[in-house]
Amino acid sequence: DHLLPQPSSFRKKREYTLQEVLGRGGFGKVVRAVWTLPNGEKRQVALKIISKKLVQDPKAVMDEINVLKGLDHPNIVHVWDHFESRDKYYLTFELATGGELFDRIQNRGKFTEKDAADCIRQVVSATAYLHAHKVVHRDLKPENILYRTREPDSQLVIADFGIARHLSVADEDGDGESSGGGGGGQNGQNGELTEQAGSLGYAAPEVLRGVGHGARVDCWSIGVIAYMLLCGYPPFRLDSKQELIRETMKGRIHFHERFWRKVSDTAKDFIKKMLVVDPKQRMSAAEALRHPWLVSGAATDNDLS
Ligand code: ADP
Ligand code: MG
Repeated sequence: DHLLPQPSSFRKKREYTLQEVLGRGGFGKVVRAVWTLPNGEKRQVALKIISKKLVQDPKAVMDEINVLKGLDHPNIVHVWDHFESRDKYYLTFELATGGELFDRIQNRGKFTEKDAADCIRQVVSATAYLHAHKVVHRDLKPENILYRTREPDSQLVIADFGIARHLSVADEDGDGESSGGGGGGQNGQNGELTEQAGSLGYAAPEVLRGVGHGARVDCWSIGVIAYMLLCGYPPFRLDSKQELIRETMKGRIHFHERFWRKVSDTAKDFIKKMLVVDPKQRMSAAEALRHPWLVSGAATDNDLS
């Protein structure tokens, strides 16, 4: 049967020389690779390899590709190619060489207020773009936000659209509709998303509660990230899952004097408006972009250490 022509998706694998593993996740791994294009050009790429065995819903993988292919924003990772073999899906991404935002938080402890604002501005800009295109990321966290280069002032790119979904209703402004219950991975009545999504610690209260959630779940996650950048620890205690969930639902934010003394009121106001329990009252990404903390020049360069 080797005389039969191979599907183009099988031939493609040979264009890639795999190198080291960049990351592992629930669905497989991400590997650094060199892609030799048909015209001879060589490109450094990040190849996401997803084991078909581990995917309950193959459509979800195609969804990730389709979501990404329709997007073009400087702070969203580019997808260049995709193909499959008998037991795997492959997604070819631009290689972000600067590492995860997560690692820079770990290494620095915390950011200056200016650096934090520069970072959050890019994440909010990408998120406002996503929401305008009716896409909710749903898993924004420092592991999924990458530096494009190693430079200290490198651009950030949002990656990992594994659980992103298109909203089926107009929600450009990021209205967090949260009326429907349900679950089971189906879209709720008004097009809101109802299945469990995201990561503990960054997930909005309406996500933890399993009620319908909309675009503003991303704004909550950005609030958590901003909080962590400015003080070096998370806003909700992570001692136990139960406690974390309880604390998140209450949404009571503390700015402990010892760590927050030097942080501007503008930054605290931004965080308070992102970490509002009721998604309808929570700031949208478009509004966040206009918040004084992110409007250029507003953030002071005070050293928070
Ligand atoms: P998962 O769904 O398993 O979390 P991700 O897409 O988040 O998959 O990738 C896992 C990790 O691989 C990321 O946290 C990051 O460290 C690395 N990674 C993913 N995409 C890229 C990329 N385009 N460039 C560099 N590293 C990447
Ligand atoms: Mg990830």
